[in-house]
Amino acid sequence: MLKTHFAFLLLAVTCSILCNAEALVRSDGPITDTEINAAIDRDTTAMIELRHQVHQHPELSNREFETSKLVAERLRALGLDVQTGIAHTGVVGVLKGAKPGPVIAVRSELDALPVTEESSLPFKSTVRTTYNDQDVGVAHACGHDVHIAAILGVASVLASMRNQLRGTVIFVFQPAEEGPPTGEEGGAALMLKEGLFRKLKPEAVFGMHALGTVDVGQVHYWLGAAAASDSNFQISFHGKQAHAAFPQESIDPVVMAAEAVMELQTIRTRNIAPSDVAVLSVSTIHSGVRVNITPDLATLSGTIRTFDDKVDERIERRMGEVVQSIAQGNGGSAEMKFYDRCPALINDLGLTKRSLSSLKRAAGESEVMLASPVMAADDFAEFGKVVPGFFFSFGTQKPGTISGINHAKNFVADDSSIPLAMRAMTYVLVDYLQGKNAE
Ligand SMILES: [Zn+2]
Ligand SMILES: [Zn+2]
Repeated sequence: MLKTHFAFLLLAVTCSILCNAEALVRSDGPITDTEINAAIDRDTTAMIELRHQVHQHPELSNREFETSKLVAERLRALGLDVQTGIAHTGVVGVLKGAKPGPVIAVRSELDALPVTEESSLPFKSTVRTTYNDQDVGVAHACGHDVHIAAILGVASVLASMRNQLRGTVIFVFQPAEEGPPTGEEGGAALMLKEGLFRKLKPEAVFGMHALGTVDVGQVHYWLGAAAASDSNFQISFHGKQAHAAFPQESIDPVVMAAEAVMELQTIRTRNIAPSDVAVLSVSTIHSGVRVNITPDLATLSGTIRTFDDKVDERIERRMGEVVQSIAQGNGGSAEMKFYDRCPALINDLGLTKRSLSSLKRAAGESEVMLASPVMAADDFAEFGKVVPGFFFSFGTQKPGTISGINHAKNFVADDSSIPLAMRAMTYVLVDYLQGKNAE
């Protein structure tokens, strides 16, 4: 009797486990928040372990060889269609749902920074390498390790719901978000140039970013402008070298450089509307080797930041006019080049409105905040120029502790940010695919 009872109990328990599991696997109705949350609970520990692995083995821009291999292996194991070697080390995984629906894309970066990590994390990076001829530490000081884990987590959650999933999700793992090494191409622009989105074009693209000095739990979003454009410039003034005691024999590029620094400031104050945000900074000046030689070359470099491509174009045009007139006025010549241009990151308004309720369900209404645009740049903007994009940020600072800002030595992102980032992005993507909040 006891035996029969026990056998019955075992049968009942087994059936209940199997039936629940079957219900999860077999359900082909719309994906629910409860199902997403259960899948995130299932995957969180594995994603945190993966983050530790990535964090301990950081790689610089365009050198993300092992990181890219690891990501490709994980995506293949989930059954995604995987393509590697895009823009050097980029990886793309395509997940096709069993049901018809739109094509969308989501991005994570792969690269780390030449920063020597100062943290007490047990999985702290001790990696060193040579960057611009200097011996440097390498660290995930911008939280891209957290992005990799969270976006792979989203891929795992959605792959396990493939039979309920509407449409197609393109997972883009992008190299060199921090900018390629001097003389190399890279990042989002190179991925697009090499044909990303050409064969399979998404109708929307999504991205997110860790915020070092904001507590875990908070989510920030932007209406319209989120991050500034970034355009670097180099100016060369050519003159005529002579003995410094015989100025009449020289054409002095140092004087031209000095005039340029002052004159360029007037572009911000005289040529740009006060209501437009713009920064024009001359950050380096190099010229000359000795006090008694007037040199024949002076070089200046700097950066321009705006939230509007038209403002950026206007500044660049005026800079050309100012620099040429100074060179001519002094009897010399000048050339100027702009490089590593990144457009302003502008959130699509319709997409932002649609995604907002997903973020509020994921993080709680009071934790989702409208943020002011930041002067930093992110080349997610390149994707947003091709298709409508939505970008948000999430806090990674452990409450009660202090982390440095992104890119600082003491930037510390807490593991507990990973499940929230997974939930926020999964809700945003699934809501979009299931047509929730569509106009
Ligand atoms: Zn960064
Ligand atoms: Zn970053």
